[in-house]
Formats: sequence, C-alpha cells, structure tokens
Amino acid sequence: MTRPIRTTIDLSALRGNFAVARQRAPGASLWAVVKANAYGHGLMRVAEALDDMADGFALLDLDDAVTLREAGFRHPILLLEGFFEADELPLFAEFALTPVVHTLEQTEMLTSAALPAQLPVYLKLNTGMNRLGLSAEELHPVLSALETTRCVGNITLMTHYADADLERGIDWQMAHFEEATQGCDHPVSLANSAALLRYPKTCRGWARPGIMLYGSSPFPQFESAEQIGLRPVMTLSSELISIQHLQPGDRVGYGGIFTAERPMRIGIVACGYADGYPRRAPSGTPILVEGRRARTVGRVSMDMIMVDLEGIPAAGIGSPVVLWGDGLPVDEVATAAGTVSYELLCALAQRVPVIEKA
Ligand SMILES: *Cc1c(COP(=O)(O)O)cnc(C)c1O
Repeated sequence: MTRPIRTTIDLSALRGNFAVARQRAPGASLWAVVKANAYGHGLMRVAEALDDMADGFALLDLDDAVTLREAGFRHPILLLEGFFEADELPLFAEFALTPVVHTLEQTEMLTSAALPAQLPVYLKLNTGMNRLGLSAEELHPVLSALETTRCVGNITLMTHYADADLERGIDWQMAHFEEATQGCDHPVSLANSAALLRYPKTCRGWARPGIMLYGSSPFPQFESAEQIGLRPVMTLSSELISIQHLQPGDRVGYGGIFTAERPMRIGIVACGYADGYPRRAPSGTPILVEGRRARTVGRVSMDMIMVDLEGIPAAGIGSPVVLWGDGLPVDEVATAAGTVSYELLCALAQRVPVIEKA
C-alpha cells in the first residue's frame, strides 16, 4: 500500500471542454494554452488528448516546444514570451515555432538575424495591461520593419486583456487596439478564456483559451464552470489515515489555530502543502469525505490536513477524500483560500502520482 494521495486526469472532460471552446468561438482558430505543464495537467498528456482538436499549442519554454516537435506534433506552436536571446532564433526556424515579439529589443534581434526559414510572428500590442507589448507609437515602425524582413513570414497582431473576467471588461482596451491598428489588415489574436466566453466579438482570428480547457471558470464570481458546461479535468483525492476525538477546548495542528467548542471527531487526510494544497486555506475550506461535503479545521501542514467529520458517521480510516475536482469545483477551494484555480492547478506537486482516465 502506498500513500493514498493521487490525481486523476480526465481526458474526456478535457476534450469536452475544448469542444465547448470551439462551440463558443465558432469563427476562430484555437490555440490550446498549455503553459506551466498544461496548468499542472501534464504537457504531453494534454497535447496528445487535444492532438486532433486544437489548431495549435501555446506555451512559454523553448524546451517544451522542441519536445512537442520531437514527439511528432506538427501544429503551430506559439511561444507567449517569444525569445530572450538572438541565439535561440535558429531553433525557432529549425522547429517552425512562432514567437511573440513584444519589445524593440526582440525586433532588433529578428531584423538582424539570418535564418534559413521564415518565422510567423505574433506582434504584441500593449493596450493598457502594461505588462508585455509595444506601445501604439512603436507599433507602426516595428510593423514596417518586420514586413520587410526576409525571415519574417505572416504577422498576427495580438493583445491581452487585464479585466476580461471583471466588471471593467474589455471595451476600454479594444478602443486602444482599434485605434492603434487602424489600417492594418493583419489577422488578430485577442481572446483568453474569459473574453472568449463573455465577448463573442473577440473570437476572431486565433483565440487563446487556457483555464476553461481544464474545467475551471475564468469568472467564478459570475458563472460557475458547471453553468458554462465545463467539467473538471483534475481531481485531487486522498484518504483519511487517522481519526482523533477532541474535547471542548482541545486545539488542532500547528499553532493550535482551531479550538473545539464541543466534542468532535476529526479525520486526518494524507494531503498537505507539499502536495500542492494551499497552506493559506483557512479552517472551513470545503472538502469531500465519503462524497459528502465537510470543512477543514486547523492549519494545513506539509503532508496533512484535518477535517471535521460532523454528520459523516460512516467516515473512518480509509474513507475517500476529494480535495478538488469531481464533486467539488477547484474554483470553490481557490475562493476559500483567497486565490484562483490557476494557482492551485499549476502548483500540483511532482510527488503526487497521476492516473489518466480516458
Ligand atoms: C495564459 C495566457 C492565456 C490563457 O489565459 P486563460 O485565462 O487561462 O484562458 C492567453 N493568452 C496569454 C498571452 C496568456 O499568457
């Protein structure tokens, strides 16, 4: 018997979620965003499952892009931060990779490179997020330079939204985008998951859905994953490995931050922050025991958390526990822990064994 923690990756849910993206963005080509090891789900596993569905794969690391190529994927591959040094450019050409170009420095490296093949380029415009991207003033000179660079092929204009999931929305950024790109007839790439779902007008050219593919809502405060028609791909599960009986006044775990006010039966779950469960999840974070909703008590430790077994008399050592996923949306756990599903999914630890479900 091994430690009972495991993560199940439901590949049919992944494919179903991709189909939702396709249906909601009928006019667009779709990059499957697989950065951060496919949001913790496993790059190669996700790419294989979406092989015949995705129009391309978007990620960050050159090594990962090369790994996909060497495994036989022939899709377009987009590097969302582009290249960092000029000496990477021959690899972009060799493996037919598409860089995002977002600085004058990258432009300079590209226009002075001698490459054996033409690279398609995504030119990124900063429309108010103020993270990556050229300013409106820089756009036209860079565009002219790239249009006349021999090793540059098709150019796509992209931007990224700061508030697609929030009240402020995207119109303010679109106004900047339309103004800066007036008169350009290059294709565009605009939407992340939130924009794809909330703003159909952004679903032209190439959309870039990430989080929705993994079955999480990009805006759980407005609409749950289930309401959108998404199914959880990752289920993190474990078991109870011990039971404790508390008397009123007894405290639980490091720092004793939870105190029993009445006699309590609590279960000890084999899952802690070294497995990727967020340490800042407070007492009261939802968790499933024997398929029933319960709440955590006390501080999350490295390898364990504690759960109040009130109302679950059948629970004992060996009872199944779901930390998030099937039956308990990761969005609910993330909200309780004061973070977003992205962070929980990406932080899944290497030590947790993975089981694939077809
Ligand atoms: C991560 C990322 C996406 C995907 O965002 P989601 O919110 O996960 O859909 C899209 N575009 C860019 C540039 C990104 O970095």
